[in-house]
Amino acid sequence: MKQSLGDRPDRMQPARAARPGYRGASAWSLVLLYLVLVLAPLALAAIGHPIASRPVVDQIASALGMTAFAAVLVEFLFNGRHRWISGRIGVDRTIRIHRRVAYVIVGFIFVHPFIYTAPDGVSWPWFNAADPTLSIGGWSLATGLGAWILTAGMVLTALDRRQLPGTYETWRLIHVGCGIGLALLIAAHAFTASGYSAQLPVSGYWVLLLGAAIVTLLEIFVLRPWRQRRTPYVVQTIDRIGDRTWALSLRRERSGRAHKVMRFLPGQFAWVKLGRRAFATRDHPFSMSTASTESTTIGFTIKEKGDFTDGIGDITVGTRAYLDGPHGHLVPDEQPVPAVYIAAGTGIGPVLSHLRTFLAEEDRRPLTLIYSVTSDSSVPHRKELDRMAEVLNLTIHYVVQHPTSWWHGAMGVLDGHLLDSCLPQHSRGEYRYFVCGPPLMVKSVRAILRRLNVPSGRILTGS
Ligand SMILES: Cc1cc2nc3c(=O)[nH]c(=O)nc-3n(C[C@H](O)[C@H](O)[C@H](O)COP(=O)(O)OP(=O)(O)OC[C@H]3O[C@@H](n4cnc5c(N)ncnc54)[C@H](O)[C@@H]3O)c2cc1C
Repeated sequence: MKQSLGDRPDRMQPARAARPGYRGASAWSLVLLYLVLVLAPLALAAIGHPIASRPVVDQIASALGMTAFAAVLVEFLFNGRHRWISGRIGVDRTIRIHRRVAYVIVGFIFVHPFIYTAPDGVSWPWFNAADPTLSIGGWSLATGLGAWILTAGMVLTALDRRQLPGTYETWRLIHVGCGIGLALLIAAHAFTASGYSAQLPVSGYWVLLLGAAIVTLLEIFVLRPWRQRRTPYVVQTIDRIGDRTWALSLRRERSGRAHKVMRFLPGQFAWVKLGRRAFATRDHPFSMSTASTESTTIGFTIKEKGDFTDGIGDITVGTRAYLDGPHGHLVPDEQPVPAVYIAAGTGIGPVLSHLRTFLAEEDRRPLTLIYSVTSDSSVPHRKELDRMAEVLNLTIHYVVQHPTSWWHGAMGVLDGHLLDSCLPQHSRGEYRYFVCGPPLMVKSVRAILRRLNVPSGRILTGS
């Protein structure tokens, strides 16, 4: 029998009206802004003083070089650490786009010098030295070659990071450092090559973009930690809740008026830093699993997966913590749109945040949860989920991969047949679908949902 919604814990209050608006810019407006920023130098070169004497291929080569430079600088602005970026398209997609854009940038950087017909004073086989229209040599040649070598290094070390020694954070720092080096080398190359970048409209644009990139870096690595120092958290509890899985809860270090935790939307995540140093570069993204209506504690479900998370169980109560957030797009519709959740592993964290918030807000939208677990003998959060199913308008399908002999529910992997049987049988296009779990599971479930005629615009994913 469904229980009364009035049974919710007192510390949660209905707070829908108080939800913060961290939705971020729409995907299309971001694409448009990206194209404008990356193609602006071409427009500025065209309306400035076009170098009419140049052959068309040289113009194309310059266009490729300028577009690559703009794209390198814009990558600093369009990283997943800004809410206006990650708020709608999500940090996973931001990283995927970053990788794809990187291939294009690399292609442009490597190809463009071979297209020029005639750099001055250079007699490489692919140049026609009889028709000098571009001044290259000395600094511009050295910086161009330097940018080439750095680009090659960045691509090679990003292709299969797991094969490299050292932690993810070390790699990330080196990657960002190389990105800064690359931007400076290309800037020096562009300014000394005395082409379009020597003219005021384009050079002014480079100075603006370089300034914006520097401000972004300062914001992320200096201003944010500095602000975080003023809102420290401490570990309140750390409990083992399943196989290599932990529930971490934080509260604000100071009591009194400053006890309220960061406001967020259900399903969002934060970069979490544990330890005394707000300026430490080691932070990790984790989804909040508590209700967004909780004002005094904030919780995460964390699975041991590597050098940082493997030690999560050794963290002691009272350890200092800092949060950078909220970020992310896996948030419920403001209207009571029915939702289907397909979760595996720690993907249950953001789902819990949704369900706990619905409970607190007395939200009765129709919900289906398909929860893939390894074994039925230890299902993280099962008791709580079953209790919520009695109160919310929630149907739960546990899908067990390695069931014990007394398990009678769904079993196996999340394939098309199984999902088809667990999904709502009618009006599937009217539901919102949240797919949360390991990257491979998310990719495969998304493809299955598409085969089952779920419109891609109704699917939100996070891993
Ligand atoms: C948006 C988002 C939400 C997440 N939510 C949760 C959650 O609720 N619970 C949970 O257990 N895990 C979550 N993760 C995964 C979690 O961040 C990684 O498992 C964790 O950072 C691994 O760190 P490690 O040092 O233990 O392992 P490593 O071996 O160092 O990392 C394993 C992989 O995790 C990713 N990763 C590591 N550090 C970072 C970082 N600083 N920034 C971005 N990616 C990183 C990289 O892809 C890396 O290859 C989330 C990841 C993302 C992107």
